[in-house]
Amino acid sequence: MSKHVVILGAGYAGLRALHELQKGANDLKITLVDQNDYHFEATDIHEVAAGIQTSERITYPIKDVVKSSCTTFVQGTVEKIDSENQLVHLKDQEAISYDYLIVALGYESESFGIPGVEEFSLKMVDIPTSEKVYQHLTEQMEAYKETKDENCLKIVVCGAGFTGIELLGSLHEGKKKLAEIAGVETEKIQLYCVEAVTRLLPMFSEKLGGYGIDHLKKWGVDFLVGKPIKEIKQDTVVYLDNQETNEMNELNAKTIIWTTGVSGSHVVGDSGFSAKRGRVMVQADLTDAEHSNVYIIGDCSAVMDKESNRPYPTTAQISLKMGEHAGKNIKAQLKGEPTKEFTFKSLGSVASIGNSHAFGVVGKMEVKGYPASFIKKAIMDRSLFETGGVKEVLAKGRFDFYR
Ligand code: NAD
Repeated sequence: MSKHVVILGAGYAGLRALHELQKGANDLKITLVDQNDYHFEATDIHEVAAGIQTSERITYPIKDVVKSSCTTFVQGTVEKIDSENQLVHLKDQEAISYDYLIVALGYESESFGIPGVEEFSLKMVDIPTSEKVYQHLTEQMEAYKETKDENCLKIVVCGAGFTGIELLGSLHEGKKKLAEIAGVETEKIQLYCVEAVTRLLPMFSEKLGGYGIDHLKKWGVDFLVGKPIKEIKQDTVVYLDNQETNEMNELNAKTIIWTTGVSGSHVVGDSGFSAKRGRVMVQADLTDAEHSNVYIIGDCSAVMDKESNRPYPTTAQISLKMGEHAGKNIKAQLKGEPTKEFTFKSLGSVASIGNSHAFGVVGKMEVKGYPASFIKKAIMDRSLFETGGVKEVLAKGRFDFYR
């Protein structure tokens, strides 16, 4: 009887696994589950939040990549995985049984228990939350016209990680349109970034990270660094201003966007897997320590990098590799062959700051400016290609010459 593989999540990791399994999927039944009927490019959502890209441009229908001869797509919300009985429980739908399971449920915003984050700041983790950020921004610009309250023109990004920096770059680019709505000069829209640590972007050399930050500063972004946020109140960021005297300070703004890091899906911990911030330390072959038929990949997973003795950082690049690897290992298991260890060599990472600037590392080489931006677009298109194939690259790819 054919075996049933269930893939949870149609992000980078899940779709890459699907692609691998659909290749030569003889005698294999696959079910893909996702709460949405579309895949979104998670690396680009900051552009939707800033209003410089439409969500249509960074999404495509899941049905485009599902081979109906072997795969069934179920649109549903996963509530719990019962790994003892090999069942996936969905909200208001029948449970699905599996022989092999790939958990690729992605990430969630992490508040670190800081008071007021949930109530008074905006998340930016998926299409609905990113669209909400932009809608909120336009509402504030409209409100300014009525009230002339300068706080309507202030935007605070909390956290200067990769996400925060890329969002600031896009917000700078989106300022012109926002200023037009408010009927003010572009310079009147003020961007702030409040960050806990002083050494920003530790994945890059100080010089390279400094290049990106200096660029944003030149564009008028106000950085408050070494200022951990302690609370978010209505239209207010409360931060520790002086670590020696414990003096607190406040920054008022009508738009506060929370980008201080992410955790893996809560479903993983809720289902009894041993997770820390929603991430499970998996075996070298990407299976759960207790279940050799359950693969946990992407942002729900932590894999030890033997060189640094620390888990690899979560990126789209590693998620794609994990998806491919999990698919290959399941195929090996089906043939009664041993699974292989996951190894990963990062090709580097590049942060965009707006549409035509970027900085980062490719291989061992540091890149910046327009060439880096070109490379960044090529990286994005490669991810798109690995999940969506040629069709999606031609329709949604970053370079205009496709069309
Ligand atoms: P992150 O953890 O990389 O950065 C969060 C930042 O917020 C850090 O600088 C941290 O010091 C700061 N912070 C945390 N708590 C704070 C507080 N209370 N007050 C002020 N600042 C605080 O998170 P991220 O930027 O969301 O990225 C998540 C993961 O996704 C990372 O592994 C990142 O590398 C990856 N990512 C990669 C890309 C890319 O490759 N282009 C883009 C986005 C994200």
